[in-house]
Amino acid sequence: MKSNAAVAKMIHAEPTEPGLAPLIQEVLARLGENPQREGLSGTPQRVEKALRFLTSGYRMDIRKIVNGALFEVKYDEMVVVKDIEFFSLCEHHMLPFFGKMHVAYLPRTKVIGLSKIPRIVDAFARRLQIQERLTQGVAQSIQESIDPLGVGVICEARHFCMMMRGVEKQHSGAMTSAMLGAFRDRKSTRDEFLALVNHRSSGI
Ligand SMILES: [Zn+2]
Repeated sequence: MKSNAAVAKMIHAEPTEPGLAPLIQEVLARLGENPQREGLSGTPQRVEKALRFLTSGYRMDIRKIVNGALFEVKYDEMVVVKDIEFFSLCEHHMLPFFGKMHVAYLPRTKVIGLSKIPRIVDAFARRLQIQERLTQGVAQSIQESIDPLGVGVICEARHFCMMMRGVEKQHSGAMTSAMLGAFRDRKSTRDEFLALVNHRSSGI
């Protein structure tokens, strides 16, 4: 029989996916680089590690994240967590986009531990994304987790694929939002959320 440590190791082992490092080495060579030179010798492994981390959201289970952090409450005021920093990769260029997300919901019977909301954001940001789907994913998962009266998510981001290439508009930002339930149906709820979010200097 295996020891507990060995069993734990098996459970947490990465799935046996083929390594990316040889492919990265090939990319370097095709870009005209010499993958053998000193500065690049460990690069394929580092890039693989970075890409695995930046796409680790695929292996995160939202139910596990919120598990044990759902609380029954008699509280019907808006809950707002704003300025949640995130870093993601655009699925069109695999270049970073990053910014801040503001998340709000109106509880029905349950609230979620506040620290879990940034973890939900990370679970969706650490994938190949477009900003619209990232915003929707966060809103939908909160809707499904705690069945609130409504959810509002606003996302402001800057895209390296716009800043470094193409139009090279260094200060252009994109804003997206997802409004569900009361945030979609009631202007007063939406306005309260927007007022709370706008009551700050964004800084991005
Ligand atoms: Zn892009």
